[in-house]
Amino acid sequence: MTVVLGGGISGLAAGYYFLQRFGQPLAIYESSTRLGGWIRTEQNAEKGFIFEVGPRTIRPKGQAGANTLQLVEDLKLNIEALPSTHEAARNRMIYANGQLCLLPNSLGGLFKRLPPFKKPLATAFFKDLFAKSKKVKYGDESIYEFAERRFGTDVATYGISPMICGICAGDAKEISVRFLMDDLFEKEQKYGGVVFGLFVSKLIQSLKGENRTPTIKTVPYLYEQSLREKWSMYRLENGLETLPQKLTEYLKSKNTNIQTSAECNELVFDNDNVKMNIKGQEINSKHVICAMPSYKLADCVKDQHPSLSAQLLLIPYVDVAVVNLMYNANDLLKQKAFGFLVPPVEKLPILGVIFDSCCFDMHGNTVLTVMMGGKWFEQNFGQNPTPKELLDVALKYVDQILHINQEPKLNRVHVLRKCIPQYTVGHKQRIINIRSYIDHYKLPLSLCGAAYDGVGINDVIFSARKQILELRNQNEI
Ligand SMILES: Cc1cc2nc3c(=O)[nH]c(=O)nc-3n(C[C@H](O)[C@H](O)[C@H](O)COP(=O)(O)OP(=O)(O)OC[C@H]3O[C@@H](n4cnc5c(N)ncnc54)[C@H](O)[C@@H]3O)c2cc1C
Repeated sequence: MTVVLGGGISGLAAGYYFLQRFGQPLAIYESSTRLGGWIRTEQNAEKGFIFEVGPRTIRPKGQAGANTLQLVEDLKLNIEALPSTHEAARNRMIYANGQLCLLPNSLGGLFKRLPPFKKPLATAFFKDLFAKSKKVKYGDESIYEFAERRFGTDVATYGISPMICGICAGDAKEISVRFLMDDLFEKEQKYGGVVFGLFVSKLIQSLKGENRTPTIKTVPYLYEQSLREKWSMYRLENGLETLPQKLTEYLKSKNTNIQTSAECNELVFDNDNVKMNIKGQEINSKHVICAMPSYKLADCVKDQHPSLSAQLLLIPYVDVAVVNLMYNANDLLKQKAFGFLVPPVEKLPILGVIFDSCCFDMHGNTVLTVMMGGKWFEQNFGQNPTPKELLDVALKYVDQILHINQEPKLNRVHVLRKCIPQYTVGHKQRIINIRSYIDHYKLPLSLCGAAYDGVGINDVIFSARKQILELRNQNEI
């Protein structure tokens, strides 16, 4: 029987695609007491709002976005979409030099000088047109260096750095350019400049008659709707946790053996068999799909494959503190926006604040989420801050920046340990090396999840699907 290790969204999705493809029984082992991993919704049905502890929205873009929408459609989940014309989708802010600054949200905005930028952002494109090209050693550099080199220091400091804080709570000076700008970087390396490279490749594309429609076989109805209605992002009715819940229901209805509190401690590969130690019991399988964090897999293979373990350990993770706040009034936010991010150069102990109730209806309540820590967790809070210390910091900056000084009616503080892998410089090559090692030793092991092919929900679901598609035939499982 095939085994999936890890019952987060990638493990559950892997189980789902496995059943769809092979229709054979499988087992999923999850170490904690619940399924869903970092996706966790706290309901307050009586007051009509929800707190998302982890992810809250999904973007309906590209192949991976279309793939998730197909899954959402298959599971008959209800969506609440945020169109790109909505003020929360249009307005994104950063907090810099003591004020909230709206980032340009229209073509016209690119030609105005908006603080904290010293020049209109459009000038960054001119800088790229005239900047010298550079062949980057080892084919990778930090996203900060790349943005600074091509578009100037302001763009790197106030555009890219806060964006990296928002996506992976990381430091743009360490994160690989290939994490978010793989395509732009390739264009620069090939054609000598980003704008010029984009122009040339667009021209080639249109001459060849190529288009960018997702290559999954049938385009999901919801994806078409998202294009028609110009969705910027969406959430699920009753919160994102309904996705892992529905997947679990489906898997159970197909007799999948799902076990919680079932931690895998060791993996031993022997020809075409994998021996696992789960809760002290020996489990055997022909193939294992590993959807747990890479550092956990490193621990499981360290005795038999120390060099694979060492490579897996090169993927660092960061801790994030999430503070959810609810106020019993709906007019506390002066700015209608998605929220704001704080560039690391400001040296504040918060990464940013999401205006949940601005994006979606929270039944007349103001709901905010303050994100803190990430790459700077220990530096700002030490090793073990108390929930009260974290709450006090969150409230201090909500007061200072948003001028909300009343006590929230409800709050929740969570510290999510090692929750986001960091795609630092060299990550792409590291993953190639890890997968080559697995191929070379013909290990019956597939890897999916946030450590490898992207950190967002779309990425990990798509990664799970691709790993199942790569299983060649039923003998292999
Ligand atoms: C605060 C936060 C906000 C985010 N916001 C967004 C967002 O708005 N939109 C978006 O697209 N993405 C967002 N993300 C990213 C998204 O949550 C992740 O991509 C996704 O949840 C990762 O899923 P996963 O299954 O790969 O990993 P996980 O959720 O980490 O699941 C792995 C599972 O493996 C289990 N496990 C660990 N060790 C073992 C073991 N030895 N044996 C068995 N099981 C084991 C774990 O308990 C866990 O359940 C956010 C992430 C965080 C932390």
